[in-house]
Amino acid sequence: MNLILLGPPGAGKGTQAKMLQDRHGIAQISTGDMLRAEVRSGSAIGNEAKAIMERGDLVPDAIITAMLAIRVQKPDCAAGFILDGFPRTVPQAEALDVMLAEMGLALNHVIELKVDDGALVERIAGRFTCSSCGTGYHDRFKPTQVPGICDVCGSHDFTRRADDKAETVAARLEAYHRSTAPLLPYYAAQGKLKHVDGMAEMATVAGQIEAILDGAESRLDSRGTSP
Ligand code: AMP
Repeated sequence: MNLILLGPPGAGKGTQAKMLQDRHGIAQISTGDMLRAEVRSGSAIGNEAKAIMERGDLVPDAIITAMLAIRVQKPDCAAGFILDGFPRTVPQAEALDVMLAEMGLALNHVIELKVDDGALVERIAGRFTCSSCGTGYHDRFKPTQVPGICDVCGSHDFTRRADDKAETVAARLEAYHRSTAPLLPYYAAQGKLKHVDGMAEMATVAGQIEAILDGAESRLDSRGTSP
């Protein structure tokens, strides 16, 4: 099963992609995580991407598409993948269509997490992650149970993304509306686009996504729970 999660930064794509990976044994592919790893390693790609990411702009299509083409060949993608943060432009979506056709693979669903722009700055600006195990938290919506200590692994080290500052979030939202939102009609025309309410509780969103995957969304009410 091959899926795309679409939505602006802060919509919850990463959280839902990780849950899908655990539930379905398919690989979460986050191009943002891949780029951050390149930046940390000081590679040529990382050095080129760093300033672009810090401005909240998009990394050139050719770089990101080449990275993805290598990633989807890895063995953990054998049962499928969830693309989180890719494609972000129509040329990336077209390149993905070609790549999948060459690999003899289908794209099963494109799921949009719909959220209000107004809620996103607060959602994003409060995010932080355990440096040891990668568990995600939020100052207001999901703090650690004991301040300063990771609930999962007990680490005291946390990181905040350089591009999660309020100023950069505005640029990232602008990039989403300008370059990524055109993917909604692109995938609607392919009959693949589905929507979930990204403002709902995390578990409710997960339920709505599962309903789409098992083709049962029409039996659910708008909150994603069975009537
Ligand atoms: P994310 O973690 O998905 O929010 O991505 C963080 C940043 O990485 C974005 O603001 C972009 O600068 C860059 N990035 C990630 N994925 C892509 C992509 N598919 N195309 C272009 N830039 C990307």
